[in-house]
Amino acid sequence: TAAYLEAIDAAKVLNAYITVLPGKAIEMAKESDARRKAGEAGALEGIPLAIKDLFCTEGVQTTAASHILDGFTPPYESTVTGSLWQQGAVMLGKTNLDEFAMGSSNETSYYGDVRNPWRADGSEDALVPGGSSGGSAAAVAAHLCAAATGTDTGGSIRQPGALTGTVGLKPTYGRCSRWGIIAFASSLDQAGPMTRTVRDAAIMLGAMAGHDAKDSTSINTPVPNYEAALDGGVKGLKIGVPEEYRVDGMPKEIEDLWQQGVDWLKAQGAEIKTVSLKQTKNALPTYYIVAPAEASSNLARYDGVRYGLRVPGDDITDMYEKTRAAGFGAEVKRRILIGTYVLSAGYYDAYYLKAQKVRTLIAQDFKAAFEDVDLILTPTSPEPAFGIGAKTDDPLSMYLNDVFTVPASLAGLPGISVPAGLSANGLPLGLQLIGRAFDEETVLRGAYALE
Ligand code: GLN
Repeated sequence: TAAYLEAIDAAKVLNAYITVLPGKAIEMAKESDARRKAGEAGALEGIPLAIKDLFCTEGVQTTAASHILDGFTPPYESTVTGSLWQQGAVMLGKTNLDEFAMGSSNETSYYGDVRNPWRADGSEDALVPGGSSGGSAAAVAAHLCAAATGTDTGGSIRQPGALTGTVGLKPTYGRCSRWGIIAFASSLDQAGPMTRTVRDAAIMLGAMAGHDAKDSTSINTPVPNYEAALDGGVKGLKIGVPEEYRVDGMPKEIEDLWQQGVDWLKAQGAEIKTVSLKQTKNALPTYYIVAPAEASSNLARYDGVRYGLRVPGDDITDMYEKTRAAGFGAEVKRRILIGTYVLSAGYYDAYYLKAQKVRTLIAQDFKAAFEDVDLILTPTSPEPAFGIGAKTDDPLSMYLNDVFTVPASLAGLPGISVPAGLSANGLPLGLQLIGRAFDEETVLRGAYALE
């Protein structure tokens, strides 16, 4: 714990953490030592973790990287972090993210950009770590924690994993409790581990997963021993390659990486099959209707009365307006505007309802594909880490970064990104494996074989 705290201090330029907790971390590490000496060690005893600052942590400021939560200290602990502490883990601090997890580059944070540790020496232009869990990904990649938590609504664990050369696992929707995680899009949000290895991801998932009566969408099914699943290998597994993921303008190096993944799996005895996911091209527009719609509803609670920031006004409406104008950043406002538009009486049928129907078709595509195959292999992201500022003026090009991650999110399926090689300019690239609902074991098995 002390060594990680020192490393965090020495790597401030990355801006990976919003809050570092040296006193609390050392205290937790000492308690952990005592438990170990008493022979009461938990599964994560003494392991120093970083927590995305979207998880509520009791008595520790929680920001969602938004100005509007200034001064908010939750009086409760999220279920997922609570179970990590119960199993002996130590909290180093809270990591940076895109504001309310809205973004793919960690550039919408009120607390500033995070730098990708792969190019952090200042000799060349700084790169983004991906997002929204950019701080967690940077912290894992730069050895500023043993592992981290992230959340993934449309790719926020997997894409930063790919851009930083780390492992990011988004479990099935309902596998981990959402209770105490600040909501972005409730039908999509899912917590998951961000780690250096697939084995660590398996161990972390085991500690994070499980039914929670406080989240009615968490599923009451036993948590398997994920680590034990790793050695299964891929021999005899059928792995699908969806032709529709060959999107226009896909860079050659991404195509080559994908082929490399196919070859690796084949060499280990997997059977590769072409599958068809016909609705792939509709996933991104569907996501960017559904997610903002839910966000606009979830963010209505930040009104200057219940949490954080309050900017005084002449009357209550004026106070609401001034608080929300000052408290939310540009991307969050854009999502609220899109969300309220697609939900409004005149447009609901044309946008929101239509998107919900397409979402069902996307889920059916996957269901049909998984009758033929056990896993689906795709690239995680259409490009490696890009420059800070390169896409901030062009939201559409930013949204395009999510093209390979949102389909599985809309279908609620588990997906993992595994580091799989380097781009021509020496930056990490990731491959994604998508699995059947609640079949994280096979996803991890496949990932372990790719690693
Ligand atoms: N990049 C996507 C978005 O901006 C996904 C973010 C996430 O998964 N939290 O909505």
